[in-house]
Amino acid sequence: MKILIAADMEGITGVVHWDQVMPNNPEYPRFCKLMTDDVNAAIRGAFAGGASTVIVTDGHFNGRNLLVEELDPRVTLTSGSPSRLSMVNGVENGADGVMFVGYHARMGTTNAILDHTWSDERVSGVWINDRAFGESGLNGAVCGHFDVPIIMASGDQSLCVEVREFFGERIETAQVKKAVSSMSAECLPPSATTKLIEDAAKRAVENLKSGTAPKPFKIMGSIKLLLEFEQSHMADKAALLPFTKRTVDRCVEYIADDIMTTYLVFRSMTALAK
Ligand SMILES: [Zn+2]
Repeated sequence: MKILIAADMEGITGVVHWDQVMPNNPEYPRFCKLMTDDVNAAIRGAFAGGASTVIVTDGHFNGRNLLVEELDPRVTLTSGSPSRLSMVNGVENGADGVMFVGYHARMGTTNAILDHTWSDERVSGVWINDRAFGESGLNGAVCGHFDVPIIMASGDQSLCVEVREFFGERIETAQVKKAVSSMSAECLPPSATTKLIEDAAKRAVENLKSGTAPKPFKIMGSIKLLLEFEQSHMADKAALLPFTKRTVDRCVEYIADDIMTTYLVFRSMTALAK
């Protein structure tokens, strides 16, 4: 039973502001420690539930946030960027389930801490087959391509709603804070949240073993990706990618045959848009 823990930072215990999750800010080191604590809680729960192997991928910003010296000795950590599958790198080598720790809701969600989709500066919306997607949906679809389900997620209440909409009611969630705006939340302290995360992770692996975990999230057939950028020059740059189509305003469309192409085109367009 192999579990991948895919960690982001905006949904970590106590986080309410960009200054807490971007390097070179005085508060950032504190939140690297809190992120590591949330991830360690998920690792403990995964092993307690019956996992035999747990791997961790650091998916926030440059992928260099988790404190490797404080991580549970039973895991390996994929750190740094870029990597081909970024926030879920490692899933391509096979896993039985993925946990999203510290995730956040998609761009435009009401009462969601630091809501954005991939880049808060460049991306104002992502639609796949006319459905609005955030990072949990995108990464979940990549995992689904490898037949791996998303079994657990932690973050604020809006993230918990979003993952249930995408992956079904059987996903285990740990709500570590209740957002009251995009940059204010009622936060539980780490002494409470690490227990919630550990318990949810344990239940999630038990669900896998008993066959009651969510099924892999798969998107089959022809896929229409619509990407709306924050500014016109970003859409102009993204539309340099061959086979894209500039549609209305700041939107660029791409039709793909499979989700991996869709994902890599999304990554390429957001990189070009810089
Ligand atoms: Zn992030």
